[in-house]
Amino acid sequence: MTERFHRIALIGIGLIGSSIALAVRRAGLAEHIAVQSRRRETVDAAQRLGLGDSYTTDPAQAVKDADLVIACVPVGAFAAVAQAIAPDLAPGAIVTDVGSVKQSVISQMQPHLPDNVHFVPSHPVAGTEQSGPEAGFAELFDNRWCILTPPAGTDPKAIERTQAFWEALGMHVDIMDAAHHDLVLAITSHIPHLIAYNIVGTASDVGDVTRKEVMKYAAGGFRDFTRIAASDPTMWRDVFLHNKDAVLEMLGRFSEDLTALQRAIRWDDGETLFNLFTRTRDIRRGIIEAGQETDEPDFGRHHGDGDHDLPRPYSSD
Ligand code: NAP
Repeated sequence: MTERFHRIALIGIGLIGSSIALAVRRAGLAEHIAVQSRRRETVDAAQRLGLGDSYTTDPAQAVKDADLVIACVPVGAFAAVAQAIAPDLAPGAIVTDVGSVKQSVISQMQPHLPDNVHFVPSHPVAGTEQSGPEAGFAELFDNRWCILTPPAGTDPKAIERTQAFWEALGMHVDIMDAAHHDLVLAITSHIPHLIAYNIVGTASDVGDVTRKEVMKYAAGGFRDFTRIAASDPTMWRDVFLHNKDAVLEMLGRFSEDLTALQRAIRWDDGETLFNLFTRTRDIRRGIIEAGQETDEPDFGRHHGDGDHDLPRPYSSD
């Protein structure tokens, strides 16, 4: 049985913060959940949804007496959050976050945090294209991976406790270096989002294909890109600005491979195309075998039942 926390403070209560609140309740992991958000209306929405036990717009008030603090704000906002909470953190508290980029979050938070707290950065790799407190659900983290990137010298007990926390929420946990995390996520998450944003942008700009045609024939692959490209603009702007080096590195490789495909098409090199398309099928099979995707046809969409035709979770971040 995972050790309960006396008070968990959630700084930011959007999709991820609210899902944590619900999953913490489901697992009975906290005596008290303190909810904070910047805007009054978000705090009010969280209260209406009953996500916590106390509600405030003041981050300093939320963290008072908390033994676990989880910052769930966009990647560009962590320095300001660390500055705001630092003076009121309880000695011995674990401070973690959920940011999609790790090196930047560490360099934004660490300088402000007092020496008597334990900073264990986390990235629960689970999300949807929805945002805000209404979007959260307790099952978001079930069977997904959470990556911890503790800086050198972090107390092993604090790492263990943070790992146990995410496991109690249903996740598997890996520990890696922050720079490696940023490179891995650049190719598995950040570049795919960039491609989706780009292709949807291009489609909406192609003059000789009407907008109506784009909507009508969207089932031809485009529809799945539109779901990803509906992801939160603030979150994704910050991800690209804060994982610049890794994204540019991976984008360079991606562009080279795309040029090779362009050449294969131009020169009728069917063998190159066929070989690549065969190799990529294996990757998909591997993901299904790893339990990270359904092998149902049409990406597991349930037809004829409006409720289930909603975008699926887990495939955003
Ligand atoms: P979200 O639903 O948009 O919620 C964002 C929360 O942060 C809200 O409480 C919002 O407050 C607050 N916030 C926004 N800008 C802020 C600022 N400048 N200063 C302080 N607070 C601010 O976002 P989310 O999807 O939960 O994402 C939160 C974090 O999780 C991000 O770092 C993201 O990279 C990471 N993440 C996201 C996913 C995903 O798929 N969405 C998956 C894994 C990790 P107000 O509403 O009061 O303004």
